[in-house]
Amino acid sequence: MELKSDARGLFIEGMIDSTELSNYLKRKFKDEDIQKTYESLTKNHIKTARSQDITPLSKFWQTLDESYKKIPPLKCDKGCAHCCHTGVAATKVEWDGILNNILKNKIDLEKVIERSKRTIDRVRESLRSKKNLEQVDWHRLVINQPCPFLGEGHACIIYEDRPLDCRLVVAFRGQCESKKLEHAQRGVVIEETVGATVIAKIQHDQTPKFKRRKFQGAQPLKLLQHWLIVWQEKNNKKR
Ligand code: SF4
Repeated sequence: MELKSDARGLFIEGMIDSTELSNYLKRKFKDEDIQKTYESLTKNHIKTARSQDITPLSKFWQTLDESYKKIPPLKCDKGCAHCCHTGVAATKVEWDGILNNILKNKIDLEKVIERSKRTIDRVRESLRSKKNLEQVDWHRLVINQPCPFLGEGHACIIYEDRPLDCRLVVAFRGQCESKKLEHAQRGVVIEETVGATVIAKIQHDQTPKFKRRKFQGAQPLKLLQHWLIVWQEKNNKKR
């Protein structure tokens, strides 16, 4: 099967299917290199994070940002937010990182929720329905609507702590011109190959031992709208 990359083997044009992406990456990098990167990111890396007094997840975000410097610069820019009009999912550890950012930057989450009432209500309705939730197309509920964290001037208000989903949809050749994402391209660096597993491992290691199950390589994901509902319900209970 032909790989969807350019002559330099760097980009996948229009690839937004995660299975297709994962198959691509497996063919692009050697297994042993993927394994080495995973081990370095999960072991040495976590120790470095502690010595720098930052969270392991922040350390991973820094590494990913560094890895993008080795390849041609992104064309993504503040205000270009086509890829912020789709469903973004995050693990609990990524959501915790977002909550820290919200606290640090004094962001009013109730206002964020009010602004995205339409999509949040759709997700809430599905959660309350008697539907088989396994069969709900979660992304369809929010597609073509702005992400709750898209702020003024089409800038992300939690940019430093945005989840992996957002970091993997990037443009190298030119700014995207459509919300349909057909112009979006994913950068292909080896750190991305193991990104989801590294994040899952960070979450696993942070889970209290009595609650931990054997590490399976992945952690559950929720749409950002779903995390906001969870936050709001918890908050309402505290009042
Ligand atoms: S979290 Fe930020 S970068 Fe990600 S979709 Fe939302 S606004 Fe865009």
